[in-house]
Amino acid sequence: MGNVIEVTINDLFDENNILRHKSTEVDIVDISSLYGLINNMKKEILLSSHATGISAIQLGSPLRVFVINMKREKNRDIVAINPRVISISGRMQKRLEGCLSLPNYSGKVKRRNKISFLAIDMEGIERQYEFEGYTAAVIQHEFDHLDGILYWDRMENAQLPNKRVAYDNEKVIEVLEN
Ligand SMILES: [Zn+2]
Repeated sequence: MGNVIEVTINDLFDENNILRHKSTEVDIVDISSLYGLINNMKKEILLSSHATGISAIQLGSPLRVFVINMKREKNRDIVAINPRVISISGRMQKRLEGCLSLPNYSGKVKRRNKISFLAIDMEGIERQYEFEGYTAAVIQHEFDHLDGILYWDRMENAQLPNKRVAYDNEKVIEVLEN
């Protein structure tokens, strides 16, 4: 089950791939028209055995919307519509990342440890969020999806992702000085 767009290693460098599209802002007078899409996004996180975030483009809708659910429990989602980064800061940390759209692979990605951003919620209210650590990495991964960037673009030495073995994606592999 599931309707997430999945790509293979051979698709990684295909610029026509839908996952490479830059998503466009949602007209917020229209938020109610997003309910179906957002509910499907929430469902896909829970259907997967490990996902904590998803972007609308992964369901084929090139809109600037992502959902995260760090607990992977019902009603613990944060819905971010037209999100905007305020700042990305803190130390660089390296973690293994995976993506629902490239099943069975993971790769080492360096990201900064903190993010603060603004986003509109399901009620149409703009809220400010600040996260650190693993959550900050997940959110940066989702912001990348909105611009057609995939985690393998950020891997060192442009190596291909590795076949996923069981891993703890909250674990920091390495902390790097700024
Ligand atoms: Zn992803």
